[in-house]
Amino acid sequence: ERRELHRLRREPTRTLDGVDIKLYANAESREDVAEAHALGAAGIGLYRTEFLFLQRRELPDEEEQFRAYRDLVLGMTGRTVTVRTVDLGADKADHTGLALRDEPNPALGLRGVRLSLARPDVLETQLRALLRASGYGPLRILLPMVSSRTEIREVRAHLERVAEALRAQGHAIADRVPLGAMIEVPAAAIALASFIDEVDFLSIGTNDLVQYLLAADRINEALGELYTPLHPAVVRVLRDVIRLARAREVPVAVCGEMAGDASFAPLLLALGLTEFSLHPATMLELRHTIRSHDLSALRRRSAGLLRAGDHAALVRWLTANTPAPG
Ligand code: PEP
Ligand code: MG
Repeated sequence: ERRELHRLRREPTRTLDGVDIKLYANAESREDVAEAHALGAAGIGLYRTEFLFLQRRELPDEEEQFRAYRDLVLGMTGRTVTVRTVDLGADKADHTGLALRDEPNPALGLRGVRLSLARPDVLETQLRALLRASGYGPLRILLPMVSSRTEIREVRAHLERVAEALRAQGHAIADRVPLGAMIEVPAAAIALASFIDEVDFLSIGTNDLVQYLLAADRINEALGELYTPLHPAVVRVLRDVIRLARAREVPVAVCGEMAGDASFAPLLLALGLTEFSLHPATMLELRHTIRSHDLSALRRRSAGLLRAGDHAALVRWLTANTPAPG
């Protein structure tokens, strides 16, 4: 079994009916990046930058961030890397003074792109470092916790200003650096049509999307099965986001934990998802699962998936659409 998976390092992630699926890696450490590269990841789909800001008292300056992003780009040797701007908030152990302290409800507070826009100096430092790294290979910028078109427009204005300044200073930066939004706030999913023209790509953060759709805290274990992607509301929202993105030819991935759990793969494939971003630890298992599915058969069964009315019905759909081992 292990050897079988190991062999898949050099195999394509292709369904039985010949459709190529892109597997990107979620990475934070140098080890993750090396492993993603060795496993044949299409690139890095989610590079969380919080680690640069945690466990310290001073904010990372442009040079320190630039070196981290450049090394990431160089480590992936020409494959796309997607770096998320910092998603700090009162939920994280921030000692730099950037995030507010003691917010009454950190999950609904000043975090992600909201905090970045409240501190344009910090945002522009991060954007400068990212744009400088874009001179070393393909890099995309991903915004966390987006809830409106206004936020995307504001970030893009900062991005353009910073790019102009860097060029004037003689830095070699990429001609175009794609800007994308996480879809993890229900409002962004529901109002996607209002801003899809403003983004170059999308990444669905199911960890938070499920939390906010179901009003179920992602870290409260007392909730048990109440926190699950197997809810008709989640399925419907995923279907709508993926469908609109496909119709507009905007690349869309899922980068929450759901994407790395191979048992959910039939559901995501049935909804039309062709890009997954997951921790390298389960990449080969997911590749193995995808290679055992016929995509067009799953797509035909998506109507049944949308009809499944509760958790148990969704489990039955998954069970019926999971190939027997062997
Ligand atoms: C998510 O919310 O699904 C996500 C990928 O972001 P994070 O887990 O960092 O909140
Ligand atoms: Mg999130």
